[in-house]
Amino acid sequence: MINLNGKVAIVTGGAVGIGAAISKELASNGVKVVLNYNSSSKAAEDLVAQIQANGGEAYAVQADVSVSEEATKLVNAAVEKYGRLDILVNNAGITRDSSFKKLSEENWRKVIDVNLNSSYNTISPALPHLSESDAGRIINISSVIGQTGAFGQTNYSAAKAGLIGFTKSLALELAKTNVTVNAICPGFIETSMVLEIPEEIRGQIVAKIPQKRFGHPEEIARGVLFLCKDGAYITGQQLNINGGLAM
Ligand code: NAD
Repeated sequence: MINLNGKVAIVTGGAVGIGAAISKELASNGVKVVLNYNSSSKAAEDLVAQIQANGGEAYAVQADVSVSEEATKLVNAAVEKYGRLDILVNNAGITRDSSFKKLSEENWRKVIDVNLNSSYNTISPALPHLSESDAGRIINISSVIGQTGAFGQTNYSAAKAGLIGFTKSLALELAKTNVTVNAICPGFIETSMVLEIPEEIRGQIVAKIPQKRFGHPEEIARGVLFLCKDGAYITGQQLNINGGLAM
């Protein structure tokens, strides 16, 4: 098992929802967390204060990771602040749901940019630093929707499936190094992303989940922790945390 004390992580979209749970979990295990946010500055400041009050170390950096210059700025800020980088969690994501017939080009491109191209944008500048770590970790937060597809989510499922292919290919390319690359595929997790779904449809979704409940952000965070601590021989995989929704 890897001792995470003093290791440095970037968590994109790390101020709210699943990202916030990941930031907290890593920080409570001794990781210095660079918590990226785009617009949630108050949530980011509050979370940094909360982590520090619990004896952890965190630093908030604003960057829109769908823009490559901003992702590079984020990675540079992390390395300038803490002198190293061991873990990169590509968690930032959005949905812009609509049936394909009504899907605008803008909402196609936006979802691909934030959910898929952002990982290219962060990994490119981060890789030289991760390669210097004795336990480099890239963890891409994909989705069950990237595995199964979903009505009204052609853009999102394309991005999340793309992330899985990207993960496998990069894992192969880096397999002889100390850097592992994995995807986590959450099912439906109780965050604003799911709470925005109309209540009636949420009820229909829960009925289809074999374990009959939504997941908690902390359950995804513990998957990230597992890959960081115990994942030296795990690469190119999809960790499905979905209550049995896809098997
Ligand atoms: P959320 O909306 O609560 O959080 C998403 C985070 O991403 C926010 O902090 C947001 O500010 C940030 N973000 C969005 N665009 C950004 C950008 N351009 N640059 C930087 N940050 C940006 O959603 P969540 O449910 O916590 O989702 C986190 C990740 O998990 C996403 O990638 C999402 O697709 C994935 N996921 C969520 C679920 C779910 O059921 N909630 C299921 C499967 C996958």
